[in-house]
Amino acid sequence: MNPELEQNQEQIIIIGAGPCGLAAALELQTQGFNPLIIEKRNVVHSISQYPVYMQFFSSPELLEIANVPFTTAHDKPSRLEALNYYRSVALRSGVRINAYETVNSIVRDRRGFTLASTRTSGTSHTYHAKNVVIATGYFDHPNLLGIPGEESEKVSHFFREAHPYTGMNVVIIGGSNSAIDAALELERVGAKVTIVYRGEDYSSSIKPWVLPVIKGKVAKERIHIRFQSKVSEITPTEVYIESAQGTNRIPNDFVLALTGFHPDRKFLGEAGVTMEEEGYPTFNPETMETNVPGIYLAGVVASRHEANEIFIETGRFHGNKITAHLLQKQQSTQTV
Ligand code: FAD
Ligand code: NAP
Repeated sequence: MNPELEQNQEQIIIIGAGPCGLAAALELQTQGFNPLIIEKRNVVHSISQYPVYMQFFSSPELLEIANVPFTTAHDKPSRLEALNYYRSVALRSGVRINAYETVNSIVRDRRGFTLASTRTSGTSHTYHAKNVVIATGYFDHPNLLGIPGEESEKVSHFFREAHPYTGMNVVIIGGSNSAIDAALELERVGAKVTIVYRGEDYSSSIKPWVLPVIKGKVAKERIHIRFQSKVSEITPTEVYIESAQGTNRIPNDFVLALTGFHPDRKFLGEAGVTMEEEGYPTFNPETMETNVPGIYLAGVVASRHEANEIFIETGRFHGNKITAHLLQKQQSTQTV
């Protein structure tokens, strides 16, 4: 710890202990910094919320952080293996993580930045940080449809596991990996699944090894899919589906609106980070520093309108750029 720092004053605070925030912390630690991560739940919280039986599309070595080998039983890691891996790496590294603490605001001040946070125990905290790395991801912010009935209890923007839907009429909105994986799992437990997708054919983002499987199920009418269609209203017992042929209603028990996610940029705006027209925050891709010196981005929070352009495989290296930049600042006599 830098002796010049006062109590609750940190050299570097990282907000979010997802794979990218964690990778940034470990690289900083390797290079002699002592970052503090503040995480609103626990380490890799987003992954713990993914579908329980999910397999990653990436092979394990592409998800590794801090040069720690990740070996798995099969060619793709399961959610559980990823949880084991990231939490073990975090614990072994001894990196400081304040878990169950949500950062609510970042304000620029003469010493750098003031961060206000709240712990789940109810206490409020203030920190002063010379540098802040925002690594808050996107998984808390599903893309909403804004249609009547979306807020009802039978609608979810997240899929965990199929069992509760056994024998039920389920509409899945969306046509990408979350939607297709959920449809296949639901069909296996005897749910009656209709996918409503706005695209005119199967999405090009569906994992190549899954595409023939979903096509087979649709051909056998085990799963129904409506292309170029959208759900316009959800009632307690039906959904309304609009297409070029008109509007029709189908019986319905549950809706899974698996329409993707977008990063929340609240902190960025408040701290003076500007947004580019293309929908991404102003930052230098070589250093990950934003237009506000001392505020850095790591992980999917740095993405454009297309939130999926950054994922663990790529976002895990953002910390290397941030660390290199902070070392450079340190060497050029600027205080860090
Ligand atoms: P996150 O993992 O979302 O972490 C952000 C963290 O910040 C969270 O822990 C959150 O609790 C915390 N946080 C948010 N706000 C605050 C706050 N105000 N205060 C404190 N903490 C806060 N990518 C791959 O490379 N390969 C794959 O195979 C793959 N499979 C995927 C499968 C699914 C189902 C999904 C949804 C995504 C998948 N991805 C995959 C994408 C990948 O998971 C994300 O890109 C990745 O999680 C991004 O990491 P991150 O650290 O930027 O964000
Ligand atoms: P996504 O890839 O962003 O797809 C969202 C889907 O919802 C798309 O089909 C999109 O249509 C549709 N959509 C978005 N907004 C809509 C709206 N307003 N109305 C109607 N439809 C709308 O989201 P995701 O499938 O949840 O995937 C998120 C990330 O997780 C991706 O990186 C994905 O690869 C990853 N993932 C991985 C796995 C795995 O590895 N096993 C499983 C699930 C997800 P368009 O196609 O027209 O854009």
